[in-house]
Amino acid sequence: MGKVVVLAGLPGVGKTTLMNRLMELAKERGLRLGFVTYGTLMLQIAQKRGLVSDRDELKNLPLERQQELQLEASERIKALRSREGTLLVDTHMFIKTPRGRWPGISVANLGFLKPDQFLLVEEEAERILTRREKDSARRRNMSEIRGIEAELEYSRYMAAACSVMTGSPVERILNREGKLDQAVERIIALIERVGDLDA
Ligand code: ATP
Ligand code: MG
Repeated sequence: MGKVVVLAGLPGVGKTTLMNRLMELAKERGLRLGFVTYGTLMLQIAQKRGLVSDRDELKNLPLERQQELQLEASERIKALRSREGTLLVDTHMFIKTPRGRWPGISVANLGFLKPDQFLLVEEEAERILTRREKDSARRRNMSEIRGIEAELEYSRYMAAACSVMTGSPVERILNREGKLDQAVERIIALIERVGDLDA
C-alpha cells in the first residue's frame, strides 16, 4: 500500500514552497511522489457548493461547516492514496478560530488519512513573521513574535497527539532561510525510510 506523509507547519513557514521543490526533484529522480494541499482541496469543495469565493473566506465559515469540508477532503485524500509511492499532505496542525484553536487533523480525519509519518516544518518565529509579511498575495493575520512562538509550541503538542493516535512517528524539519534544498533533501531521505517501519 502507498504511504501517506503529513507535512504540517504554521502559515508562512514554507510548506507549499518545499512541496513544489520536492515535486521538481522527485520528477528528476523518478521518485513516486504525489501531493495534495488540504486547504486547496477544502476550497475546491466549498467553491463548488458556492460557499466561498477565495481561500481566506474559508476560516469565516461556521466551524461545523468547516468540519464537514475537512472530513470530505480527508475522504477524497483517502481515495488519492495510491497502491505504491508516497502521498504528501500539505496541511496545518491547527487553525485559529474565534472559539480557539481548531485541529487541522482530528481523530475522525486520521481515520481516513492513516498517516505513516508526520513532518513538522519549523523555522525561527522571527523568520516566519517576515515570510508572512513578504507574502502579500495572501491576507494573513499578523502576529507578534511571541504569538508565533506559542503557535510553534502548540503545533508540537498537536503533532504529538497525532503521533500517539496513529503510532506513526513525528519529525521536525527546519526550513532555514535560503536553505530550502537542505530541508527538501531531509524530507526525501525521511520519505525513503518510511517503508522501514513495515519491516
Ligand atoms: P500557508 O500555510 O499559509 O499556505 P506555507 O507554509 O505554505 O503557508 P509558503 O507559501 O510556502 O508557506 O511560503 C511563505 C513565504 O516564505 C514565501 O514567500 C516563500 O517564498 C518563503 N519561503 C519559504 N521557504 C523559504 C526558505 N527556505 N527561505 C526563504 N524564504 C522561504
Ligand atoms: Mg501553503
